[in-house]
Amino acid sequence: MTELFKKAWERIKEADSIVLISHINPDGDALGSSLSMYPVLKNMSKKVTVCNLTKPLPDYLDFLPNFNKVTNKLPKSYDLMISFDCGSFDRLGIEEKPPFLINIDHHISNTEYGDINIIDPKAASTSQVVYNMLKTNGIDINEESAVCIYTALVTDTGSFQYESVNDKVFECAADLVRCGVKPDYVAKMLFQRDRLSRLRLLAKAYDTIELCCDGKVAFVEVTKEMMEITGAIKEDTDTIVNSVRAIASVEVAVMLREDDEGIKISLRSKNYADVSKIAVKYGGGGHIRAAGATLKGEFDFSKVKNMLKEDLKEILKGEE
Ligand code: 5GP
Ligand code: MN
Repeated sequence: MTELFKKAWERIKEADSIVLISHINPDGDALGSSLSMYPVLKNMSKKVTVCNLTKPLPDYLDFLPNFNKVTNKLPKSYDLMISFDCGSFDRLGIEEKPPFLINIDHHISNTEYGDINIIDPKAASTSQVVYNMLKTNGIDINEESAVCIYTALVTDTGSFQYESVNDKVFECAADLVRCGVKPDYVAKMLFQRDRLSRLRLLAKAYDTIELCCDGKVAFVEVTKEMMEITGAIKEDTDTIVNSVRAIASVEVAVMLREDDEGIKISLRSKNYADVSKIAVKYGGGGHIRAAGATLKGEFDFSKVKNMLKEDLKEILKGEE
């Protein structure tokens, strides 16, 4: 990693105008890791564009420093693009290949689509990879960057609960606190600004929970009708699947959501099942414990569930 971090930094130093981009439908890690580089590059007198092709952006992340700088328009010309937290080129949502691309990520399914690929599947968040890159190159992290890196770490570890959490993660978090992060402020911004519409949606979605495979699998459904009735928006569905996984007997939780493009599936596992295998099979990707895909075409919930039940039997086999 050290060599890659240095090689990437040489490229960054050479570039005048830099685009920082993250995957469509961004989460805390996507926006946090890309925004964390904004103050760093500004300090180096670079021309910086922070880009995400999704509109509107999730407003629960609006407290991130420089959130209002994020644009959905690419500049006409630029020297270098850095992608964050994005497992495949198509998830950037852009058509044209950039002049040079540094791909920084921690997804095990990353397709290495960059000219330089810095992929660390052991990292708890892409922001932790960014942190390591900055440290390796002796760069000071100011409070604005630290808040972004820390927020991404919190959101991608489920508030420091997942297997990816180790001594390095806490050392990184402690250092970020020394850089000015207030953990209680970030926690309040992330978790104490809920919407009533989201809670109403949860109530409807929870009503659809179906257990199968001896209680090891739980399905939960979100229909367009539920969204309309409750006034919920897409991001309100983000953590439903995590709370369904919390059922004691459940190893894998699956959310199925009706989207314009098809049926979006979100998969989460608890102890042993590798759900990234299923997501990849359906053209998506992700991590061992959290993955997703969108099934386009003539599908309904029951057809998708039946297909997934077969796949799930495979990944649940022989494990305990
Ligand atoms: P979620 O289920 O919350 O949408 O996503 C869980 C994880 O899987 C995230 O790390 C996300 O980046 C990844 N993921 C979700 N949907 C897709 C997809 O369609 N393609 C790819 N490559 N990754 C996805
Ligand atoms: Mn991530």
